[in-house]
Amino acid sequence: MAGIKSTSSRCGVVIVAGGTGTRVRSPGKEPAKQYRLLGGRPVIARTLRPFLDHPEIDLVQVVVRPGTAGEFHNAVQPHPKLREPVDGGARRQDSVRLGLEALESFAPDHVLIHDAVRPFVSPEMIDSVLAALAVSTGAIPALPVTDSLRRVGPDGFVQEGVDREGLFAVQTPQGFRYREILAAHRRAAAEPEEFTDDAAVAQWAGVEVSIVEGAAANRKLTTMEDFAMAEAALAETRIGSGFDVHRFGPGDHVMICGIRVPHERTLVGHSDADVGLHALTDALLGALAAGDIGSHFPPTDPRWKGVSSDVFLAHARDLASQAGARIVNVDVTLICEAPKVGPHRDAMRSRIAEIMEISPQRVAVKATTSEGLGFTGRGEGIAAQASVAVKMPGGE
Ligand code: MG
Repeated sequence: MAGIKSTSSRCGVVIVAGGTGTRVRSPGKEPAKQYRLLGGRPVIARTLRPFLDHPEIDLVQVVVRPGTAGEFHNAVQPHPKLREPVDGGARRQDSVRLGLEALESFAPDHVLIHDAVRPFVSPEMIDSVLAALAVSTGAIPALPVTDSLRRVGPDGFVQEGVDREGLFAVQTPQGFRYREILAAHRRAAAEPEEFTDDAAVAQWAGVEVSIVEGAAANRKLTTMEDFAMAEAALAETRIGSGFDVHRFGPGDHVMICGIRVPHERTLVGHSDADVGLHALTDALLGALAAGDIGSHFPPTDPRWKGVSSDVFLAHARDLASQAGARIVNVDVTLICEAPKVGPHRDAMRSRIAEIMEISPQRVAVKATTSEGLGFTGRGEGIAAQASVAVKMPGGE
């Protein structure tokens, strides 16, 4: 299906990335919001993707603020459908018109006009706008207003309610027959009026515009809160599991989950043999797909001889934090006949929480025996298994 056009009509896209984004930008520091990273990728790269991938779309023309083509090229990979950006104008409608003019030699039948800071357009939304254009000169996605509306006076006090019947919040991409919207924009160029979107230009010029169902997910990223919500929506949960075993040897205590537990024997290992923290470290490394404890801390390396195992877990925690991952919860199961874990469970949970820098409520420590069977049943050693879930920023 991908890349195969089902109709012979030509379709272009104009994406307006002309804004300076002052509501999100701290001047001189952050890039404009269309170039900000979202889930590790520039917003504009995410915005372009569904259009570049759509089989009915032939060409995409981005309009940038003058002098920012370099930023654009840093943010976006070349693509056969993607043209060199053109410079925008003073007002939004000037930028759109310049984008439409740039498509003139291609003479598309239809054009979609879209905001660079709406990165969540689905292929289905593009489908439905294009489908509506088969019978309409213009089609825009819109959602009925669901919140109550009320006018607020200049004094900041609430005034009368506004009937929301028939009111819709409009989104982009807004689709039009190319000739009609280009003509409307050329006429509007001389107008002092500022049009908020292309449906307004079309309506002003007498071009009929219908609506298709918008999507709540297709939101415009305007404020810092919008960005935070978009990051949260893109985050994905990953899990890892770990398993470890240490044998008993002569001694008077064992280290389990960072706690010293008195016992008639000790666990033998290159480090302090903390079977619980080892399984947990491997689980976290597993969730990050970052190797295993042996690859980070080779048992042949004398530096790790007798070392306290919180060093290993803290290292995995730092890797998680560098990857932008947030630890959601951890679950450790200790398998042994003795010592008894119950009296130390809460101390273990607190110590793990402390090392991983999370709340103890996110940490479970459980214990079981193996009913006298196998090496744990015979009291030859302790086994531990662990699971960790993390929230990773979206995107590869
Ligand atoms: Mg081990």
